[in-house]
Amino acid sequence: SSAVTSSTKIVLNLESLGSLPADEAGPLARYASTIQAQRHDYNGKVLSIRAEDLKSLAIIYDMSPDELTSRLIEWGVLSPGMESVVGFGGP
Ligand code: C2E
Ligand code: C2E
Ligand code: C2E
Repeated sequence: SSAVTSSTKIVLNLESLGSLPADEAGPLARYASTIQAQRHDYNGKVLSIRAEDLKSLAIIYDMSPDELTSRLIEWGVLSPGMESVVGFGGP
């Protein structure tokens, strides 16, 4: 089970996201642009998303939330500090 909690703030780095190959980042990039459009929030370098959205994205990518978190860190889309807040590799 995932250790993502209500105190976990997920902040996507939009510059890193924009420089990834479309075949890998495509679904995430579309998800993020949809949220930006819904909020009318187009000028940020980062985008805070709901913890619930990470679960939806994990389903889209056919991974557990922890696996997706690790992938997002590899891609540079999440800061490595996220490992500890999501309990990645923890007990
Ligand atoms: P909604 O879910 O009905 O939220 C309406 C408004 O409540 C939002 O308008 C925002 O001002 C505020 N709000 C709701 N939850 C939060 C929150 O956790 N933090 C903050 N700071 N404000 C919150 P906004 O931003 O114009 O968004 C309009 C609609 O766009 C939202 O309606 C929702 O349907 C969608 N949306 C926006 N951001 C996200 C997101 O990160 N994930 C998802 N799944 N939907 C989002
Ligand atoms: P924070 O949430 O730690 O965000 C720090 C900075 O990251 C923000 O500075 C902003 O430049 C950027 N940022 C974070 N999430 C987003 C995002 O989804 N879209 C965009 N465009 N930028 C984002 P800023 O704007 O000076 O805000 C400073 C602090 O004020 C924020 O720290 C947060 O604690 C609070 N804050 C600002 N706007 C809102 C808001 O709409 N709702 C809530 N709940 N807090 C807000
Ligand atoms: P969360 O749902 O995990 O959302 C994390 C952050 O994503 C929010 O931090 C906010 O920066 C951004 N966010 C999420 N949904 C929206 C949205 O609809 N519009 C905008 N502009 N930003 C959004 P924030 O605001 O510091 O909120 C922290 C937590 O507090 C949220 O975590 C959620 O659990 C709760 N919360 C805040 N506002 C609302 C709300 O209006 N309705 C509900 N149900 N929960 C809220």
